[in-house]
Amino acid sequence: MTKAIQVGGVTIGGGAPISIQSMTNTRTDDVEATLAQIRALAAAGCDIVRVAVPDMAAAKAVGKIKENCPLPLVVDIHFDYKLALEAIAAGADKVRINPGNIGGADKVKAVADACRQRGIPIRIGVNGGSLEKELLAKYGRVCPEAMVESAFGHIRLLQQFDFDDICVSLKSSSVPITMKAYQLMSQQSNYPLHIGVTEAGTVRMGTLKSAVGIGGLLALGIGDTMRVSLSADPVQEVYAAREIFKAAGIRREGAELVSCPTCGRTRINLIALANEVEERLKEVDKPITVAVMGCVVNGPGEASAADCGIAGGVGEGLLFKRGQIIKKVPQDQLVDELFALIDTL
Ligand code: SF4
Repeated sequence: MTKAIQVGGVTIGGGAPISIQSMTNTRTDDVEATLAQIRALAAAGCDIVRVAVPDMAAAKAVGKIKENCPLPLVVDIHFDYKLALEAIAAGADKVRINPGNIGGADKVKAVADACRQRGIPIRIGVNGGSLEKELLAKYGRVCPEAMVESAFGHIRLLQQFDFDDICVSLKSSSVPITMKAYQLMSQQSNYPLHIGVTEAGTVRMGTLKSAVGIGGLLALGIGDTMRVSLSADPVQEVYAAREIFKAAGIRREGAELVSCPTCGRTRINLIALANEVEERLKEVDKPITVAVMGCVVNGPGEASAADCGIAGGVGEGLLFKRGQIIKKVPQDQLVDELFALIDTL
């Protein structure tokens, strides 16, 4: 089992539930816009949020964001240890920084001491795209072994100062490299792992790559917290994370839609119907399975494992609960009737 670390009120590792993270894409020094996005992320099911801290204005905004932030707040810092110290003093709950990139042992010590004093962890975020030159020269390319070696290099820098409140990520835009890197790391250490595929792409391809990479690792029992990276509104990342959890059977939060693939018996616009139900289900918090089926003959039976559902016929459809037909419903009222039934579950 991995070691547990604490990020605000959320535990990562040590068998704690796998948490969902995302990152704002507002300017961090625009406190109101950042908080609005954080609230939207929290409402979507995000557990931990990260903000970029590229300059002192952003570091100084961290305190104001923290005052009203509904989620544990992680600051993302590259190179400048002064930004880290400012953000830590302002109340950050965790720092993502790579100690090897901040310019010397005294600076690493300053950051480690500040984090220790406030009891907050550091995430070492190895990224395949920014590996150390020496490692690229040694291995000749970005590979899992080079990424793991990079992580241990950063870890050693922190351990010099007795700092071990660490989690690690090893992200690459290649799913196979990412997966192998996490597997190697989990064999060689018990640091909690923040898993994800980086620069995964737009909603469709990025979700697919993340589903394979993150889902594959979860199936191997690897991963303590995760972020789906998408070129999209970050709320989409949280939705995708939830879907991956559901598909991997990891955490049931919210309703799951099952819908049939349609066939020659289908006489309704099932695709539009499934999309409409899926959209409305985002607001449903119950751990239920809801079916949308394309015909009244086979639909209720095929979906008997679902808690409830609808099956479309010509002009009217059926509302059913655990395979039992409840009533016939005119086509244009099917979705409303389904959600009325969901309310009673
Ligand atoms: S539920 Fe009906 S329409 Fe959908 S695939 Fe099965 S038989 Fe075809």
